Amino acid sequence: MKLLSFKNAIIAKDPPTKEEDPEFSPEDVRYSVVRYVASTTRNAVGPSVTDPRTGEIIESDIIWYHNHLRSYRNRFMIEAGAQNPAARSLNTPEKEIGEMMRMVIAHEVGHALGLPHNMKASAAYPTDSLRSATFTQKYGLTPSIMDYARVNYIAQPEDKGVRYIRMMGPYDLYAINWGYRFLPEANSPQEEKKVLDKWILDKAGDRVYEFGGGYDGVDPQSQRESLGADQVKAGEYGLANLKKVVPNLVEWTAKDGYGYDELAEVYGELTGMWRGYISHVIANVGGVYETRKTSDQQGVIYTPVPQDIQKKAVSFLNKDAFTTPDWLLNQDLLNRIESAGAIERIQSLQTRSLDNLLDKDRLKRMVTNEQVNGGEAYTVVELMNDLRKGIFAELYSSKKVDAYRRNIQRSYVDAATNYVQKLKEEDSEGILKSDIIALMRGEMERLRRDINQRRSNTNDSLTRYHWNDLVARIDASLKTDA
Ligand SMILES: [Zn+2]
Repeated sequence: MKLLSFKNAIIAKDPPTKEEDPEFSPEDVRYSVVRYVASTTRNAVGPSVTDPRTGEIIESDIIWYHNHLRSYRNRFMIEAGAQNPAARSLNTPEKEIGEMMRMVIAHEVGHALGLPHNMKASAAYPTDSLRSATFTQKYGLTPSIMDYARVNYIAQPEDKGVRYIRMMGPYDLYAINWGYRFLPEANSPQEEKKVLDKWILDKAGDRVYEFGGGYDGVDPQSQRESLGADQVKAGEYGLANLKKVVPNLVEWTAKDGYGYDELAEVYGELTGMWRGYISHVIANVGGVYETRKTSDQQGVIYTPVPQDIQKKAVSFLNKDAFTTPDWLLNQDLLNRIESAGAIERIQSLQTRSLDNLLDKDRLKRMVTNEQVNGGEAYTVVELMNDLRKGIFAELYSSKKVDAYRRNIQRSYVDAATNYVQKLKEEDSEGILKSDIIALMRGEMERLRRDINQRRSNTNDSLTRYHWNDLVARIDASLKTDA
């Protein structure tokens, strides 16, 4: 079969001058335009008009909203400031901000050509490859520009010559070839499909050419803003960089004659990115990989995340997410942006992460996995055991508990007792008929027993009050018949 292609299929031009074409309008449906719009919106879009009879994309107008520059400026500083001197200013050099804009437009052109997001693409690359100059310069940060993957937060300060900004990759070439290659010898859609199917089978099993939507939060390989195959490793690398950025933020964002608004904005977004790394790790617990296949391909579509990976994820969460993030609580910085509020901010970050981890659907998937795979599964009981040992480490070591940790411990008891309290409610979420309430009741009884045995071991009054309070909360919540 002959393979024909089109030369210069897409040409980008500046708009005509008044003299060249007095009639030209960007609203004219005959022209696909890239527009820069004076707007405070922080986004870019690539909507298109399609022929409903054939699905053919007729035209597309890509819009870059002005304040999207802030998104990329801030993200570049937060995720690359530790490793790349070019990222240490809010006045991002034109070379870098220009490249980031170019790649956003390329992504939107991808939409205009019919490509959906492929959030699985980035997981095709081994995490450590993103630290390699030769690898990243050749293959980019992900096989596809259609992934949400923007800045290389994996690279470390000692890695030289690494690429920091995403670019088009092998998946994009493959997808465009599949969608647009002209097959003159195919006389019918059926004949064409045979060739197209073969192209897919040729690449089967090669992760670079896999696709995943990534919106249901079940497949940890298919997530927005994640990079590399190993989310725990990525979280560790990303966190190591954030820790180096925070002490410099005051200096990097300062502008003579202006206040600290920019500092507050960047710091707030940095906290959000930290929460993002945590949630990438959480997706592994009770996670299920999805490998899309047609019925003529070998093997199944859905497989649970291996036990050891789930266990590693929880130990990362205990070590890095549910401990007090002293690195984030930089007083020199905080005292310039707020009179108070750090405790609540961290509490909200940690509580949301914990609620996400103890989400009912995640727990139900774990119960199913245990039923099907037995000893090979990471079980809900193991999860609660591992979490209790981590979140209540001070109880088991008879240490004083700080304000942040008291908060996360209360959040843990709240999350568990809220499930038990569901007994009083109409069941619309299938919780009453699941194992979750039994699990949480058992966990609260176990925790109460451990606190009762150990609460007198501390000399710190507030810590002792805190243990007493938790026991009272557990007592009240277990009386569901009252
Ligand atoms: Zn998009």
